[in-house]
Amino acid sequence: MNSNFEDTYRHKGMRRQLVDLLRTKGITDENVLKAIDEVPRHVFLDSSFVELAYQDIAFPIGSGQTISQPHTVAFQTQLLEIKPGMKVFEVGTGSGYQACVLAAMGAKVISVERQKNLFHKTQDLLEKLPFRVKTFLRDGYEGFASYAPFDRVIITAGAPTIPEELIKQLKPNGIMVIPIDDENGIGQKMLRITKLADGSLKQEEFGGFKFVPMLKGKGKD
Ligand code: SAH
Repeated sequence: MNSNFEDTYRHKGMRRQLVDLLRTKGITDENVLKAIDEVPRHVFLDSSFVELAYQDIAFPIGSGQTISQPHTVAFQTQLLEIKPGMKVFEVGTGSGYQACVLAAMGAKVISVERQKNLFHKTQDLLEKLPFRVKTFLRDGYEGFASYAPFDRVIITAGAPTIPEELIKQLKPNGIMVIPIDDENGIGQKMLRITKLADGSLKQEEFGGFKFVPMLKGKGKD
C-alpha cells in the first residue's frame, strides 16, 4: 500500500482524465463518475505504481489478487443503481477501492475478503481513509445473515454459479451484480439479477469481463 496519502493537484488532474475516459467508454451515471473523481485510487496501490493508478488497467495487490480495472468498477457500480443509505454487501474486498467508491456514493458497505493477509492490509488502510466501510474476514458464499437483508449485492470475483444464499439475503426489489463464468472457461459475463417483489428473479446479461475466481472457504494466507 502507498504510505503517502497526499492527494495533489496532479493526482486530481489524472483522476479527472480517468473520469473523462470512463465517459467515452459508456459510463453515464454522474453519481458513479463523481465517486471515481473523489476516491484517490493511488493510495490503494503500492507507491511505485502511483504513476499508473489512473490508467484504466487492473493491478496486482498481493496474495495473487488484483484491484479491478476502473472501467470494471464503474460498470458494476453503475449497474447497481446505488442510492444514498442503501445497504450493500460486497464479496471480495481486495484493495478496498470498489468498497470506497460505493461508500463515496453514500452506501453503507459491508465487504468480505477470504484472504487473511489481504484482509488485514486493507483493513489497516481503510482505517486511515474517510470512507465508511465495514470489512470482515469471511467466505462470501455464506453471505452475512446478521447484516442481511441487503439492498444490493456485488460480487467482484468470477463465480461458477449464482450463490443461492446471497439471493436469499437480497431484499425484494434488490439488485445483485455478479460476473458468472462463461461456457468457454476463459472469462465471465456480467449478470444483473433483480429480485422482484414477488420473489422471482429477473436476469440481464452484459458484456464479457475477466476476474480472479470466487473460491470457497477462507484462504490459507
Ligand atoms: N473489489 C476488489 C477487487 C478484488 S479481486 C477491489 O476493489 O480491489 C477479488 C477478491 O475476491 C480477491 O481479493 C479474492 O481473494 C476475493 N475472493 C474470492 N473468493 C472469495 C470469497 N468466496 N469470499 C470472499 N472473498 C473472495
